[in-house]
Amino acid sequence: MKIELRNITKSFDKKSNVIEKMNLKINDGEFVALLGPSGCGKTTTMLMLAGIYKPDSGDIYFDDQKVNHLEPKDRHIGMVFQSYALYPHMTVLENICFPLKQQKIPKRERLQRAKEAAEMVRLGDLLERKPSELSGGQQQRVALARAIVKRPKLLLLDEPMSNLDAGLRIEMRAEISRLQKELGITTILVTHDQEEAMTLADRIALMKDGKIVQYDTPMKLYHEPVNIEVAKFIGTPPMNFMEGTVVGNQVQIGERTYPMDEGKFDLTGSNEVILGVRPHDIRLGWTGDIRFYGHVRYVETFGHSKMIHADMAGNRIQFFAEPHLSIDTGAGIQFSFNLSAIHLFDKETGKSLRKPGPERTEMSVGGAASY
Ligand code: ATP
Repeated sequence: MKIELRNITKSFDKKSNVIEKMNLKINDGEFVALLGPSGCGKTTTMLMLAGIYKPDSGDIYFDDQKVNHLEPKDRHIGMVFQSYALYPHMTVLENICFPLKQQKIPKRERLQRAKEAAEMVRLGDLLERKPSELSGGQQQRVALARAIVKRPKLLLLDEPMSNLDAGLRIEMRAEISRLQKELGITTILVTHDQEEAMTLADRIALMKDGKIVQYDTPMKLYHEPVNIEVAKFIGTPPMNFMEGTVVGNQVQIGERTYPMDEGKFDLTGSNEVILGVRPHDIRLGWTGDIRFYGHVRYVETFGHSKMIHADMAGNRIQFFAEPHLSIDTGAGIQFSFNLSAIHLFDKETGKSLRKPGPERTEMSVGGAASY
């Protein structure tokens, strides 16, 4: 089912809008994540899609039909929440059957459909257990089976994995991804976890203060953030930033000036800029195009790599290095990166200075740090 939000505005107190003129189009069968910090309006958006909240203005379309007036039960949606919300006195099978019972589906059919749904989430052996006899991951799979047993046209997932520990979360992620592809259901995931959004979604709507800041594929968000907010939010460890001043076609950082790629960036109209470069794109030594001196603040050791935290002309920089490298706090170092790895933002507006260009799908991991 295709979904469209047109100019949706929502407030709870009539003073400030929690959602402000939001527009969003989702293709049939697409998996979209609403990603953003706590309080940015993700759940409110989802509850409007579900019909639990009504927008103050604007329209919601399912397959080009306006659904503003439709009650939740008439919207053909399945929902899974952070709290599994299972009925404790019912078995797994009864929990999964429950929505079908409400729809007055005959007993034989509902048992058959519930068993099929249970098999899909690999719960076939646990049908007679009560929720208290299941692990968190198994309980969440019951909630997922209960959502898909209705054969919904839209699956809404609100932080479905945040109660699970790290290992189970990865397992559940794989499960949800497989199921969504198998069933081809249009799916919307609400999450504040960028890794979850990046790994699961076809497209991510990155939200801030009730607005969508960028709606793109995970690759586009990572490689072509439209502004510094997106650049700060996407990527772990986060992007490094250095303040600079535009001098003709060059950017001065500290004492030195560096040439910028005129084909890639439009510097006209900007005086002060912020140069961004991801930790993975920086390497120790001067093998890259753009070269700096710095001082080591401290070094973190991970088995497969070291993370060097350095000071450079008042900027704090972090990047990866060889795990066996011996490097002391306070040591002077040289590091560099390639011109192709740079992001540039206007300091005043925060907007990316990247010129619009052709679609890019390849990874540009300029930093060849061997870790
Ligand atoms: P989180 O990740 O913490 O769940 P979110 O992005 O889902 O956050 P929402 O739950 O949509 O954010 O909330 C957006 C804003 O609307 C918040 O400031 C919140 O306090 C407010 N809000 C949400 N629901 C209500 C409500 N029923 N009544 C009043 N204010 C509300």
